[in-house]
Order: sequence, then structure tokens, then C-alpha cells
Amino acid sequence: MVNLTQSRNFKFLRSLMLAGSVTLFAAGIAVLLAFMWLKPPARELGDLFSYLLISGSVSVLLGVGWLVYAGQNTRLQLQLIVTYLIGAVIALVNIGVTASLMFLSAHDFSLLTLLLIFSGSISIFFAYYISTQLTRQVQQLVRGANQLASGKLDTRVKGGGNRELVELSQAFNQMAINLQTSFEKQRQAEQSRKELIAAIGHDLRTPLSSLRLMTEAIQDGVTDEQQTKLFMGRISGEVAYMSGLIEDLFELSQLDAGALKLRCEPGNLSDLISDTLESMRAQAEVKHQNLCGEIAGHIPQLSFDTRKIQRVLNNLVGNAIRYTPEGGKITLKAWVESGKVLVSVIDTGEGIKPDDFDRIFEPFYRGERSRGREHGGAGLGLAISKGLIEAHQGTISVESSEGKGSKFTFQLPL
Ligand code: ADP
Repeated sequence: MVNLTQSRNFKFLRSLMLAGSVTLFAAGIAVLLAFMWLKPPARELGDLFSYLLISGSVSVLLGVGWLVYAGQNTRLQLQLIVTYLIGAVIALVNIGVTASLMFLSAHDFSLLTLLLIFSGSISIFFAYYISTQLTRQVQQLVRGANQLASGKLDTRVKGGGNRELVELSQAFNQMAINLQTSFEKQRQAEQSRKELIAAIGHDLRTPLSSLRLMTEAIQDGVTDEQQTKLFMGRISGEVAYMSGLIEDLFELSQLDAGALKLRCEPGNLSDLISDTLESMRAQAEVKHQNLCGEIAGHIPQLSFDTRKIQRVLNNLVGNAIRYTPEGGKITLKAWVESGKVLVSVIDTGEGIKPDDFDRIFEPFYRGERSRGREHGGAGLGLAISKGLIEAHQGTISVESSEGKGSKFTFQLPL
């Protein structure tokens, strides 16, 4: 409270000094003009100067006092109108005093007063009009801010009034858009986190419950030798699946946290592509697919982590084999373009449904047709591939036409 009063007093003194200097300057100019136009005797000029200073000081005291103390917390409209009124009353007093000093006739004085009241009324009307416009816009902004604060993030205000107010409304709307976007991003991140946890739970629960059933059956001695052998084979398959899944999850979490350490060394991508073609050929032959490579020109050496890029190639070619029917064709292409090495894996498979398109790089996302474990993997392959390529400062993208095939392309900087 003390601080508030002190700061008001300080503001009053500061405004008084400023307004006082302006009054002094204005009185000086008025005397100079009177001297040039009326050429009065020096004594009258002195009287005029003193009178202007006195009436100016009274006006300044009243005006600044009102604005700093009484008018501080009042409505803008009242503040403007009272300020104009003070101005008009002071002008009226000035004219009255000047008229009596100049011995004007009562008729002239009344006419002057009438004119002053007329022009004063017009000024007050303008004050009222401007303040109404200002107040309306400010109130709209206040309402908008309150709605934003109460969580209605789609609140926008209409821009109107003078340029500053239009700019203020635009800034307000931009702030609301930014708030809404970041809130939406946060909501989506929260949603994906929930989906991720649910997917991990689901992918572990299914193999774990079949492990439990098979071990219980063996323990209870209800399986013969042949069945036990079969179950043991399946148990080791489930264990391998779960360790693969846990390893993938670990890799993904490292990629997410930016903690993955790449062991980059200069290497030849063409060799890696040939190795991939060799290692995946047997898988493709099972489905009688034609797996071939096309390397356009010479691919210069570039720095990359061989194991990680090998993993990306295996994921992409593995997917192409998995999602391409028997007898289809899978092509691995590499070429150099604008300072980058591009690698594409093109298949003549089922393609990707438009609904799946935007989400296939998300962890655990499986296309509609690959939701069963017997058909697809855990849905981590593309998410990991994307993370690994981005860790190499590269990008990965997909083009696909349903029923005709897909083309996954990644770029690595040279
Ligand atoms: P998954 O382990 O299910 O293959 P990925 O992350 O590798 O997981 O792929 C995610 C999804 O993207 C797949 O479930 C599949 O629907 C789709 N997909 C990936 N590659 C292809 C492809 N070559 N052709 C058609 N669909 C594909």
C-alpha cells in the first residue's frame, strides 16, 4: 500500500514536471505570437505571460492530479470525458478572465461562451466516441483472455479500431493459435505414450501367457515326448521374440533420448547393399520373389555406422518381402543426388492404405492387414529405421500406391 502511494506520488511529480515544462514552453510561444501579431506594450505582454503561467499551472495541477490520483482506476471512458471537461472548464475560465481584463461587452462575452460550450460539446462527443471504440475493443480482448484462461483455446478476437489495436488483436490471436498448437502436441504426445505402454503390455502378454501354458503343461506331465519337443521349440521361439522386442525397445528408447552412440566410419554403401541382397535372397526365394539391386554410377565413400545402416536395409527389405505376394519383385536402388546418397527399396506388393500412411513410422503401429503376429512384426521396424537414419542426419520417406507397391527411400549426407 505504502509502495503504491509512493509510486503514485512519484508519478504525480514526474508528470507535473513534464506538464509544467510544456506549459512554460506553450506560454512562451503564446507570448511570442502575441508580440508578432498584436504588438502590445511590454507591460501587457508581461501580464499575459504571468496570467498564462498561472492558469496553465492550475490546469496542469488539476489535470495531472485527476489523471494520477482520482482517474487512475476509473473506466477509460470516464477518464477521457472528465479530462476533456476539465480542459473545457479551464478554457471557459480563461476566456472569462481575459474578457473581463479586455473589457469585452457582455454580449461578446456571452457569444464567446456559447461558441466555447459548442466546441467543448463537440470535443466531449469525440472523446466519448473514441473512448467507446477503445473500450469495446479492450473489453473484447479482456473477454478473449478470460476465455483462454478458462481453457477455451479456440478463442479468437475480431481485429478492429486503430492500427495499434488491430496489431494487438493479431498478436492475441497468434498467441492463442500457438497455445492451441502446443497444447494439441502435448495431448498427442500423451496419447502416443499411453498407446505405446498399452502396445508393449499387449505384445508381452501374448507370448508370456502361451509360455506359461506350455511350461505348466510340461510340468504337469500332460504332454508326451513328441509334444514336449514341439513345445520346447515354441518356447524358445517365444523367448527369442521377446528378447528381440526388448532389444528393439531399448534401441528405440536410446534413439528417443538421443543417447544412441553411433560408430561411424568411412565405408562403401554399395558393399552394404550387395551384402543385404545376399543375406535376404534365401528369404525372397521362399516366396519366389525376384530380389535385385541397381547401383547408378559410383557411390563415393561416406561416414556411417555399418551395423545400424545394415539394420535399416534389413528392415526395409524384410518388410518388402513380407508385404509382397509370391512372385513379386523387390529392387534395391542407390544413386547420388545433390550431395546426398539415396537408397530406395521398391516392391510390387500390397502397398499402404491411405489411413496407415501417416502413422507407419510410429512405434508399434501396424497396418490394418498386419495386426496379427503371424503376419507382421511388432511394428517397431520402421520407427527404429527412421530414428537410425535421423541419427545419421538423414531422412526417410515413403511413396505407395495401394495394390501396386511401395517405395521407401532414405537419404544420407555425403
Ligand atoms: P512391422 O513389424 O509390422 O512390419 P514396421 O514398423 O516395419 O512394423 O512397419 C509398420 C507397418 O508399415 C506394417 O505393419 C505395415 O502395415 C506397413 N509396411 C511397412 N513396410 C511395408 C511395405 N513394404 N508394404 C506395405 N506395407 C508396409
